Amino acid sequence: MKLCRFQPLEFSASNVSRAAHQTRPQPRAGIINENIIAEIHGELWGERGLTGQTWPLDRVKLLTPSVPTKIVCVGRNYLDHAKELNSEIPKQPLIFMKPPSSVIAPEEPIVMPRISQRVDYEGELAMIIGRRCHQLRDSDDVRPYILGYTCLNDVTARDLQKLDVQFTRAKGFDTFCPFGPLLATQIDPAGVSVETFVNGVRRQSGHTSQLIFPLDVIIRFIAQVMTLEPGDVIATGTPAGVSPVAPGDVIEVSVGGIGTLRNPVVADEA
Ligand code: MG
Repeated sequence: MKLCRFQPLEFSASNVSRAAHQTRPQPRAGIINENIIAEIHGELWGERGLTGQTWPLDRVKLLTPSVPTKIVCVGRNYLDHAKELNSEIPKQPLIFMKPPSSVIAPEEPIVMPRISQRVDYEGELAMIIGRRCHQLRDSDDVRPYILGYTCLNDVTARDLQKLDVQFTRAKGFDTFCPFGPLLATQIDPAGVSVETFVNGVRRQSGHTSQLIFPLDVIIRFIAQVMTLEPGDVIATGTPAGVSPVAPGDVIEVSVGGIGTLRNPVVADEA
C-alpha cells in the first residue's frame, strides 16, 4: 500500500494569493492507487477509514508523509561511503539528529546557506514509525512499530561537518531534510536500490543489502535511548557518491518500490 499526505492544489503555496482569503485547510491523508488518491480520515497510523472523496494525483500538492517530532539519522552505514569520507567504520550505529525545522516537502527548494561553501546531497531510505516504542527487547519483532518507508535527502553542509565535532550545524539548516513523496508499507527494506540523480545524471547507486547495521538493529539501538513516536523518521544512511550541488541543480532521490523525491536547489535570497 502507498500512503500520502496532501493538500488540494488550489490551496497550495503556489496559489496562496488566490486562496489567501480562505482558511487554509488541514492537510489530508490518503491511499494512492495508480494516479488517484482515496482520502482517509485522521492520521495514517490510525484506523484508516475512507472518506469517500478521491483526488487525482496531479490536482494535489504532496506533503511529507508524516510530521515528525524528531528525525534520527545513521551516519556511515555503508562501507563505501565511510571510505570516500576517509572515516572510520563505526563499531555500533552512529546516530545524530536533524531538527523538525529542517523538514521540507517534495518539490520544495533546498536553500544553500550563506555560511557554507559546500552542500552535498545524501540519498537515503527512511523508515517512519507507526507506533510509540521505547526499550524494545531483542526478542521483539520491530516490524509492527514501522508504518512504512520513504525517500529522504540528508542534505549536509560538508565543510561545516568537517569543522565541527558535532553534526548539528552541518545537518540542521532549514530545508535540509526533504522526505517523501509517499510512504510504502510493503517493500522489503533490506532489498531495495537507493539512487540519487543530479540534473538527471546518476551520482549514487547503492542497495540496502549493503547496510552495515540493518533496520532492526538501528531501531532497537535508538529506542534504547529515546521514545519513538508515530510519525518519527529514521534515516538509514547514504551510499557512496556524495558530491556538492549548486543553485539551479535539481536533486532526485529514488528508492526502489517507493518512488522519487525531487527538490530544486536555490541560493539564499533572504
Ligand atoms: Mg546521511
